[in-house]
Amino acid sequence: MQGSLPGERDVTVVGGGFGGLAATAYLARAGADVTLLERHDAVGGRAGVLERDGFRFDTGPSWYLMPDVFERFFDHFDREPEDYYDLERLDPQYRVFWKDGDSATIEPHRRNAHELFESYEDGAGDALEAYLSRTARNYELAMNRVVYPDRTSFRDYASTEMLPLAPRFRLFGNMDDYVSRFFDHPKLRQLLEYTLVFLGGAPHNTPALYSIMSHVDFDGNVFYPEGGIAGVVDALADLAVEQGATIETGVEVEGIRGERGEFTLATSEGTVGTDIVVNNANPAYAERELLDDGGRDHADGYWDDQTYAPSALLFYLGVEGDVDPLAHHSLVLPTDWDGHFEQIFDDPAWPDDPAYYLSVASKTDDAVAPEGHEAVVVLLPIAPGLDDGPEVREEYREMLLADLADQTGVDLRDRIVVEESACVSEFSDQFGDPGGTALGLAHTLFQTGPLRPGKRGGPDGHYYVGAYTNPGIGMPMCLISGEHVAKAVIDDDPDATGSTDPLAVPGDYGLGTPSPSD
Ligand SMILES: Cc1cc2nc3c(=O)[nH]c(=O)nc-3n(C[C@H](O)[C@H](O)[C@H](O)COP(=O)(O)OP(=O)(O)OC[C@H]3O[C@@H](n4cnc5c(N)ncnc54)[C@H](O)[C@@H]3O)c2cc1C
Repeated sequence: MQGSLPGERDVTVVGGGFGGLAATAYLARAGADVTLLERHDAVGGRAGVLERDGFRFDTGPSWYLMPDVFERFFDHFDREPEDYYDLERLDPQYRVFWKDGDSATIEPHRRNAHELFESYEDGAGDALEAYLSRTARNYELAMNRVVYPDRTSFRDYASTEMLPLAPRFRLFGNMDDYVSRFFDHPKLRQLLEYTLVFLGGAPHNTPALYSIMSHVDFDGNVFYPEGGIAGVVDALADLAVEQGATIETGVEVEGIRGERGEFTLATSEGTVGTDIVVNNANPAYAERELLDDGGRDHADGYWDDQTYAPSALLFYLGVEGDVDPLAHHSLVLPTDWDGHFEQIFDDPAWPDDPAYYLSVASKTDDAVAPEGHEAVVVLLPIAPGLDDGPEVREEYREMLLADLADQTGVDLRDRIVVEESACVSEFSDQFGDPGGTALGLAHTLFQTGPLRPGKRGGPDGHYYVGAYTNPGIGMPMCLISGEHVAKAVIDDDPDATGSTDPLAVPGDYGLGTPSPSD
């Protein structure tokens, strides 16, 4: 990114999640005087860490996907991820346990994918090749023509650069319909659709465009960063400080008044004046708690009407002994998971037959559990807004541990030595998330691209960054959001020099015209 800001330009970044940290690094590099204020004692946002009795748990994200996006990010600073942390490609990538006793192991580099798919359905091996070659092209197109260049307005969608995407407009249909054009077997459909949980969506309400997540999964593979996700957070904070930014933790911003050049922030430590505000707090909470009436973009009730990604019931368990046959990442799925999605999106209720996810980072990293122990995280996606009091947490703890023992043979019940949980209340209290959603606004058609909140929001000189804005949910997307916000700040500054050249991104633009069958 080119373009620079005058050194006297004060920028205050509210919040140190992935988006806030990335924006801080970019804006400091552009020459501004940047201070990040984080209300918690550590940066990272929902990428938090819990340390107890020799165990270390990443409390939020655990799948390091899209390594290309991280590489591109660090490259903007003439660095590479390995300057900060080593990456290990997970092998196996993950294991799926179905509740009929069946299981499947997904290996990297599509090693066993053809054979595995063929074993469920004649012709499915070749269908997978065809599917993944489309998702690979769609990924390149989506990233290089839409996501990286930040083409998010309706006007952008009518531009000539978008023409090659026109034959792909069927990708605005839903994932369920798209995947079923290729595969009949419900388990194969699940293997291609489970990635939607990363976006907080369901197969019936997520545009088929997000089939690109299968390219991310099967071709991009899954990695583990040294030190866990906390190691990545440390890297981002170190990078931002190296660029000249200041990070202050334990400082809560309580109110934002004013506009470009003359903002006043009320904080837990006193009043702060600043020229520009980049807000990593979510816009629903920011409008409700931080901005005055003039700074709000939406009427009362607007945020109540949005579709939110699931919340989650999480257990962080330090366990004695091994947990074979669980892999580093494992999924336990009902053979028919429609019911669980209905109970998340259509008819909110605690699930009757839960689909859940387990992360065991100690399978890859000895440092996160004492010898002879494993660090296990259990994540059950649930509808936002549910009551999550101690009784229901206890009920679901018992149900999940019994189900896990039944489905995988891994009985944790008598060997848990450390235990902590998080649910709706924690997301709501710690991040101001509506209904305690864990991820933010779901990626439904009406909350994607031009219809998702933009980076310019609130009073002039106030910007949003992070998962609630474009391009959306997930660590890689929030890094890109930080880049886009920094470009917007520079573009809007009357004294900035140079150009941010929003289309000058590395990548392949010569992708040709897709065939109509895409
Ligand atoms: C359980 C879980 C699992 C996930 N799994 C994955 C995964 O495997 N892979 C993946 O890529 N993504 C995953 N995600 C999503 C990913 O973690 C998020 O999309 C991303 O981290 C969000 O970053 P953000 O920039 O929106 O900031 P957030 O993480 O929302 O952070 C915002 C920050 O702002 C601070 N803040 C808010 N208000 C104030 C204030 N008034 N004053 C000061 N500070 C304030 C908050 O304390 C917080 O630190 C997961 C998320 C969760 C919760």
